[in-house]
Amino acid sequence: MVNDFKKIAKCDCLTDLEDLYAYSNDTSPKSDKNLLPDAVFFPETIEDVQKIVKYCFENNISVIPRGAGTCHTGGCRVVKKPCVILHLSKMNKILEINKENMIAKVQPNVILGDFQNEVENMGLFFPPDPSNLKVSTIGGAISLNSGGPRTFKYGNTKDYVINLKVVLPNGDLIETSSDISKDVTGYNLTQLFVGSEGTLGVIVEATLKLIVKPEKRLVTLAYFNSLEDAGRGVNHIINNEMTPSTIDLLDKNTIETIEKYNPSGLLTNFEGVLLIEIDGSSEYIQNEQEKISKLLKEVGAVEIVSAKNEEENEKIWRARRSAFGSVAKLKPDVITEDVVVPRNQIVNFIKRTKQICDENNITVCIMGHAADGNIHPNFALDLEKEGDAFKIVKDMLFHLAVELNGTLSGEHGIGYEKQPYLKLALDNGAIKYMEQIKKLFDPKGIMNPNKMF
Ligand SMILES: Cc1cc2nc3c(=O)[nH]c(=O)nc-3n(C[C@H](O)[C@H](O)[C@H](O)COP(=O)(O)OP(=O)(O)OC[C@H]3O[C@@H](n4cnc5c(N)ncnc54)[C@H](O)[C@@H]3O)c2cc1C
Repeated sequence: MVNDFKKIAKCDCLTDLEDLYAYSNDTSPKSDKNLLPDAVFFPETIEDVQKIVKYCFENNISVIPRGAGTCHTGGCRVVKKPCVILHLSKMNKILEINKENMIAKVQPNVILGDFQNEVENMGLFFPPDPSNLKVSTIGGAISLNSGGPRTFKYGNTKDYVINLKVVLPNGDLIETSSDISKDVTGYNLTQLFVGSEGTLGVIVEATLKLIVKPEKRLVTLAYFNSLEDAGRGVNHIINNEMTPSTIDLLDKNTIETIEKYNPSGLLTNFEGVLLIEIDGSSEYIQNEQEKISKLLKEVGAVEIVSAKNEEENEKIWRARRSAFGSVAKLKPDVITEDVVVPRNQIVNFIKRTKQICDENNITVCIMGHAADGNIHPNFALDLEKEGDAFKIVKDMLFHLAVELNGTLSGEHGIGYEKQPYLKLALDNGAIKYMEQIKKLFDPKGIMNPNKMF
């Protein structure tokens, strides 16, 4: 088989054992189901992708599309052999940025942060911001429907995808729509592929919607003596018709851990902090800032500190983005979840999560995109010793989210890790239709198998 692989397409292909190890998983925890792929292809063209996928279809070989591999749910994990990885890193060009029509065409592995810089230099804006945007790819963000801190004001990736070129599991190439942002012609196949986690086909080109870049931004930190006050702060701002681009919440453990490993000047003697970003014109920002500060004081904010310039804005964001990496330094393993609950249940959810973790001796640092009710408990673990206890915690966490009328995932997807809980969160009749959609596109089940279902 290995000799055949090298002949399928004129692109790089790794088959040596030591190379394959690097592609058996993503950033999700190692598991006993971590198999090695049989080959890793680096296609350079759509035709390369078609040839490889067609070969796999004819020979019943699993295919896993892979961007930067930063998925948290085992979406890139090899779980069924034989299997090849389609590493799309050589399909990384911005093909066009059309300022007049405010759209861009990109290959799948354009790095999100690079793309944002390019469009922002032209006065345009692409808001989706998974906090690892210096490495994550547009194809990965589309496939997970990534969100991030700005979702409350700007929506998530799905709101910016207009059209896709997709190689289907049998090797056929389809275009899902047109390059026009207002288009209701036919079924919305574009959105079917957004968030499909590489289970229906390989996204090989995307047309994206751009908006006008806000003139400025201002980041404010509001510190509270209790999580309840911080939670009330989130609702108080929103219920008073303010629309900041971000309201993130970080608990004491998270702030202390950031300061331990990545000192950033955050104040560590508070139970919770809200990170609030406002963007728009200078005049708008000043007005909103005054109103928001007043609202925060009304719910008990003890310290309110705003950045003085763009450099300070970025310093606060660097601290926020370092949270996951800092927690990862506490113990050998780190696992992050991304459940969502109604906004008025955030504090209840956080308190009960802490209680569950205390009862099972599991270390947790909690933060999240509070304006959307999207909470990230980051667990620091030694899975060899604490694996069984964590299973209990994870199970209770998902049940708790659903019990509070929430759900399993706001932005990381289902992948391999959360697949056993899908039936808990979704109407089982709807799951049957989803399974039929999967069969329609992928009758042989070769495309990222055992993910989602
Ligand atoms: C430190 C850290 C912070 C994060 N913060 C956030 C956050 O705030 N918000 C958020 O939404 N997410 C966050 N994430 C998760 C983030 O969404 C993903 O890491 C990222 O968007 C995925 O991009 P990727 O290129 O790494 O995709 P990969 O991990 O390579 O792939 C993700 C999934 O998409 C599939 N896939 C990839 N490319 C294609 C393609 N071209 N065609 C079809 N399927 C494809 C893969 O098979 C896999 O199932 C974070 C991750 C890390 C490590």
